[in-house]
Amino acid sequence: DESAEDTADVLVADLPCSGLGVLRKKTDIRYKMSRGQQEELEALQRRILDTVCSYVKKDGIMVYSTCTINPGENQENVAWFLGKHPEFELLDMEQIYPGTQVGSEMCIRDRIKTYLIATRKENGKEEIMQQEKTDIKSMNLEELKSYMESIGEKPFRAKQLYQWMHEKQAASFDEMTNLSKSLQEKLKNECRFVSLEQEAVQISKIDGTRKYLFALDDGNVIESVLMRYKHGNSVCISSQVGCRMGCRFCASTLDGLVRGLTPSEMLDQIYRITRDTGERVANVVVMGTGEPMDNFDNLLKFIELLTDENGLNISQRNVTVSTCGIVPKMRELADKKLQITLALSLHASSQEKRLELMPVANKYEIHEVIEACRYYFEQTGRRVTFEYSLVGGVNDTDEDVRRLADLIHGMNCHVNLIPVNPIKERSYVQPDHEAILNFKNRLEKNAINVTIRREMGRDIDGACGQLRKRYISHAER
Ligand code: SAH
Repeated sequence: DESAEDTADVLVADLPCSGLGVLRKKTDIRYKMSRGQQEELEALQRRILDTVCSYVKKDGIMVYSTCTINPGENQENVAWFLGKHPEFELLDMEQIYPGTQVGSEMCIRDRIKTYLIATRKENGKEEIMQQEKTDIKSMNLEELKSYMESIGEKPFRAKQLYQWMHEKQAASFDEMTNLSKSLQEKLKNECRFVSLEQEAVQISKIDGTRKYLFALDDGNVIESVLMRYKHGNSVCISSQVGCRMGCRFCASTLDGLVRGLTPSEMLDQIYRITRDTGERVANVVVMGTGEPMDNFDNLLKFIELLTDENGLNISQRNVTVSTCGIVPKMRELADKKLQITLALSLHASSQEKRLELMPVANKYEIHEVIEACRYYFEQTGRRVTFEYSLVGGVNDTDEDVRRLADLIHGMNCHVNLIPVNPIKERSYVQPDHEAILNFKNRLEKNAINVTIRREMGRDIDGACGQLRKRYISHAER
């Protein structure tokens, strides 16, 4: 059915198999297969994979599942498939289902059942063409110089172009008046110029907080927030379209992950907001939708460009990256020895309670995460922030305070208490004001720095991902 091509988000190819581990255990069933029949079966499996993969759309996932008494045979099928279909990339099971407990039926390590999970990177030709266009706003000055040379332009043009993009935050090539019309045209044809479209903005009457909804050029939408503080403007940006971490209280993850944002798409949230308000942005927090450590390389490039003296030139100390606790990436970030602040979404005082709120805890145990925070401080000398969303009756008891104090005892850190922002999809509630103050005071008695996060923009869709979510469900109607 050609009309169904490129339509499936997830396709499970549960294929016929040669020797069924299940049957082996059932001695009353005699199952015999000659070598010749087995080869026929492998050919059949390959034919089916070869056919059904065309139904998987770009960034969709194909799962190949089959049993075998001969584990090697599926490995060969997998290698054959990847060789024939370079548009598919093998995924690590644990990456796709971070922290989730994979049932025995779906265990990739099971020697009897073999899986191929692959994601489709490309589909129609048109899109491949689009992808081949170079995203010049994600390049540093050196890379831009080489690029300009590669298209036959003088390297000094790169400096001009870079200034337009990153210092003046131009929204199109037409604004770049010291570039000739012919160069502007050439660039329009040759490269991809990322500039977000403002779809909507909500402005709080209480404190001037602005919540923006931006459209990306593939039609996806993301949220960013401008908060006005005495010490300057802060912008909270998204790092991904959606999120796959599954934190129970968070609206951003309800529909899963669509894709990671490019460095240019992260930067342009700040550029468009700077242009819209005409005010300088002093602080940037990567605390919007998405898990920044799940888009690590793009995050690093974004920070490089954001803090570049030829761009917005924001000091590393004024950049905060918040993570749900992807330990290896936290350590990798520490090794870069940047001066940015790391914020850890802790939200619980024990492994058991953290598991109830955050599936990622299945993968990284709470002490391992805390250890990675200590390592971050050792490597960078930067005090780590612990975010703790207080959920009434779940993580706000006296026992929680005690355990939390023990857990982070002696660390150079700061705890930010966030009264949970209720979302309609879940039944979590904020503790009452007194309970929040009590929690804070008791932590302080243990010599821990604590603040209660001021709620900004109370009168506009507050919680992470709620504006985008409302927008998407409206568009679907
Ligand atoms: N993925 C990153 C950054 C995005 S979320 C992370 O997990 O840290 C930014 C912060 O808001 C996180 O601490 C997150 O746990 C918290 N958060 C998300 N939804 C919330 C809600 N409804 N109420 C309170 N805090 C929430």
